Amino acid sequence: MSRPPVRLYVDQPLTVGTVLDLGAEPSSYLTRVMRLALGDDILVFNGRDGEHLAAIVEADRRACRIQSKEMVRAQTSGPDIDYLFAPLKRARLDYMVQKATELGVRRMRPVLTAHTQVERVNLDRMRANVIEAAEQCGVLWLPDVLEPLSLEALLATWDHGRRLIFADEAAPSASPISALSCLGPGPLAVLVGPEGGFSPEERQLLAGQEFVTGISLGPRIMRADTAAVAALSLVNAVLGDWQ
Ligand code: SAH
Repeated sequence: MSRPPVRLYVDQPLTVGTVLDLGAEPSSYLTRVMRLALGDDILVFNGRDGEHLAAIVEADRRACRIQSKEMVRAQTSGPDIDYLFAPLKRARLDYMVQKATELGVRRMRPVLTAHTQVERVNLDRMRANVIEAAEQCGVLWLPDVLEPLSLEALLATWDHGRRLIFADEAAPSASPISALSCLGPGPLAVLVGPEGGFSPEERQLLAGQEFVTGISLGPRIMRADTAAVAALSLVNAVLGDWQ
């Protein structure tokens, strides 16, 4: 059985006919790991110029060259959803960034809250996880990884045209589908708190904003990485591109 073509992210511009020189890492991946050879096809995307079918025109283990044969999917950008989250420790953060990419968010931003346990966030590592997940899941856009902000600064500079959906572990258990169904179309953001939860002051601050909608994710307390997947799935199903 033939396997699906390898899908590779590149950072160079892509137009039909262009020849791209690949660096050592992708060259080694294509030739040594995936055992591809001269003339084999791969899919490439850069987050801006759609997805292209490209042929390997030089199969060097350290310096491959590929040439775009045709654009097979035009660029899309997906639903306008920001994913905002209190940073987690390494393995859970890696997982969360990968899952948010697979769930199609457009931007991700670490948010520092009262109970955030991790203060320093490795944005390069987040970007590497975004690329890995984007290659694997077929998404055409790469979510932007934005600088961390405190919750206060985030709310103080909020664009009121964007609705903020916040997963509130202390909300009385009620259907998140009903709560989300009341919202009209427009840009969205989803906020998930740290393992320590939101402080009462933060919850009050959030509840006092007219652009905020709190939702429950059911009667059990989930880890933040699980809550991310649950909240983004619900938002996609009711308001995003799963409709
Ligand atoms: N330590 C807290 C739980 C934090 S869970 C406590 O025991 O209360 C981490 C984050 O996941 C929360 O801040 C919230 O955003 C989200 N979350 C987890 N379970 C949830 C639920 N049942 N409903 C809504 N949000 C939830």
